[in-house]
Amino acid sequence: MSKIRMTTPLVEMDGDEMTRIIWQMIKDDLILPFVDLKTEYFDLGLRNRDLTDDQVTIDSAEATKRLGVAVKCATITPNAQRVEEYGLKRMWKSPNGTIRAMLDGTVFRAPIVVRGIEPVVRSWKRPITIARHAYGDVYKNAEVRVPGAGRAELVFTAADGSQTRELIHEFEGPGVIQGMHNLDSSITSFARSCFEYALSTKQDLWFATKDTISKTYDHRFKDVFAELYEDEYRTRFEAAGIEYFYTLIDDAVARVMKAEGGFIWACKNYDGDVMSDMLSSAFGSLAMMTSVLVSPHGYYEYEAAHGTVQRHYYKHLAGERTSTNSVATIFAWSGALRKRGELDGLDGLCGFADRLEAATIETIEAGQMTGDLARITSLPEPVTMDTEEFILAVAERLRG
Ligand code: NAP
Ligand code: MG
Repeated sequence: MSKIRMTTPLVEMDGDEMTRIIWQMIKDDLILPFVDLKTEYFDLGLRNRDLTDDQVTIDSAEATKRLGVAVKCATITPNAQRVEEYGLKRMWKSPNGTIRAMLDGTVFRAPIVVRGIEPVVRSWKRPITIARHAYGDVYKNAEVRVPGAGRAELVFTAADGSQTRELIHEFEGPGVIQGMHNLDSSITSFARSCFEYALSTKQDLWFATKDTISKTYDHRFKDVFAELYEDEYRTRFEAAGIEYFYTLIDDAVARVMKAEGGFIWACKNYDGDVMSDMLSSAFGSLAMMTSVLVSPHGYYEYEAAHGTVQRHYYKHLAGERTSTNSVATIFAWSGALRKRGELDGLDGLCGFADRLEAATIETIEAGQMTGDLARITSLPEPVTMDTEEFILAVAERLRG
């Protein structure tokens, strides 16, 4: 059998712990036997980040700007304990944060829906994708504890020295105040990523804020989306047969509970943080969530939504049997290969990505799954497989 052709390499970002073990198994058993795989390899494992003073992370993001599509393994974000464990020179920043800052993207997260893992909301038939704005608001705020009576004001001093003032509150006793900001440029990038992603996945786009209460701040978000839609996207959305609509966040929440799914829900930073956790738990498992960073410049980085599954890794190192779910990491690979296929006009590569995903889903639906799913499935008598058995079962289906 001749292998499926690739023309442009993927940017391959290897990672840490259990997901690094899974990464190699997926390549060996699910990709390399079928695809003439081309990648530019970057080792983002913590040791190599330390060895290269984190230059490897920057290089991998630069390569993504050059090549357009990356696939990333979960990586350790070091804390004090990790600095000690790995004897690190420094507490390196989160690679995801570094990459996101360089690519200026929005993260889209969607559940992988399979029969036997039922969402708790009965009307949900298809995935709901959350697009979370990743800049500003409460995540980059300034806060003051007010000790007692006094006046709080917002003051903006322009470059020419002129000032705009707004009274926040005349305090008669103690309290708290908070200052937040956002940028037109960041909101525009967010909106553009959402419109592009809706077009590339042919799904409706919802956007919601609290503009009735926040008449300047949230209203600016609403206006940026509306203006960009009218100027650049309305015709393309109509041609693709998809819809963009704006509504109040309260209304969106109520509608989501009655919807069938199959759309993208764009959220401001805080709303996206909370809503994506709610959706992933309601759909079943973090190991069944895809995650892709889409930059407004048209770069894509695919990954799993979960971390390096440290506890399982220590079991693996101790020679114990592990049952770690590889589905989200398999879908990171299939997502990246499909996008590469689309960009390079390689139908064979897109077809392979479809078959890989179908084989993964069929394996679970046939009752073969890892322990995390076996615990929650509605299928009768599921077979709990270990980490490698599951990947080999998918490989067997893939060979047909
Ligand atoms: P985690 O790796 O997502 O794991 C948390 C728990 O969720 C696991 O202990 C496991 O539960 C369950 N779980 C997650 N993924 C699973 C899978 N694929 N199969 C089966 N069970 C799964 O999060 P964490 O333990 O908070 O973080 C570990 C490391 O990952 C940290 O160093 C963190 O910095 C890093 N991290 C990286 C990323 C990223 O690169 N995108 C994201 C988040 C965290 P049980 O142990 O109960 O089985
Ligand atoms: Mg959260």
